[in-house]
Amino acid sequence: MAAIIDVRGNITVAVFSPRMVWLWEWMCLFTGLHGLESPMMLSGARTEAEQQWLRKCWDLDMGFGLSYRPALDSKHIPDEHSMVYAFDVANAEEWCLNIGLHVSKNFVNYEWGGEWDRPDVRHFEERG
Ligand SMILES: [Zn+2]
Repeated sequence: MAAIIDVRGNITVAVFSPRMVWLWEWMCLFTGLHGLESPMMLSGARTEAEQQWLRKCWDLDMGFGLSYRPALDSKHIPDEHSMVYAFDVANAEEWCLNIGLHVSKNFVNYEWGGEWDRPDVRHFEERG
C-alpha cells in the first residue's frame, strides 16, 4: 500500500482512487502545457482523528489553510478499501478558480468545491 504525503507533513497509508489519480495527472499535464504552476497537494488522505483535529482547529480559529469546517463524512477519509476520493491543492486562489472551472465544465466525474454553497476552491472530489 502506498503512502499519501501532504504539505502539512501528514503521511497516510492509503491510495487515491484511479479517477483521482487521473485528475492529478491531468492537472500536471494541463498546467505544464499552459505554462501554469504545477498542482501542489495541500491535503490528501486524513484519518478520522486528523479530521476531528482539523474540525477543532476550525472551531478555535487556528487556520491551517482551511476554508471551511471539515465534514465528518469527508472523502478525504479512506474507505474500507483504504481508498481516498478527494484532495485539496495548495495553489493560489486564482489558480484554483482557473483549474476548478475547467474541471467542472469538462469532466462529469468530479465535483469542485468552488461550486458549493460555501465555496472551498481548493477541494476536488470524485462524484458518487
Ligand atoms: Zn478538501
